[in-house]
Amino acid sequence: MASIFTKIIEGNIPCYKVAESDDFLAFLDINPNAKGHTLCIPKKEVNKLFDLDAEIYAGLMEFSRKVAVALEKAVPCKRIGMSVIGLEVPHVHVHLIPLNTMEDIRFVQKVTLSPEEFKELAETISSHFEG
Ligand code: 5GP
Repeated sequence: MASIFTKIIEGNIPCYKVAESDDFLAFLDINPNAKGHTLCIPKKEVNKLFDLDAEIYAGLMEFSRKVAVALEKAVPCKRIGMSVIGLEVPHVHVHLIPLNTMEDIRFVQKVTLSPEEFKELAETISSHFEG
């Protein structure tokens, strides 16, 4: 069965899109640790990060780097943190999280944003993205 992220790629589930290339997609996490929490995924559905072939793995890292640069311009923070977990969604995704404190990367605190705030945030990050 297609992962929830494949359904997002196919447009069957909406997302707040931040950036896209032929092979990768970045969108806002729906239950963010911190404002600007973004997920970067390969369009090819693979469960585990280290099962990606080397080219897609390297491409995902470079795509994530570009998204992180845009994110840091859009969201005031000390730095962008990066994490890969995948215990909830079995489709490789890189978490990019604007950090101000260690709590922001711990996946225990969550922030609530309105649909308008999500939309505006995605557009702002996207405006800084240089693909
Ligand atoms: P993990 O698999 O790394 O433990 O976490 C999966 C992440 O995906 C979580 O941070 C969760 O909030 C996010 N997530 C799960 N379902 C959706 C969805 O339908 N849309 C978006 N934008 N994010 C999702």
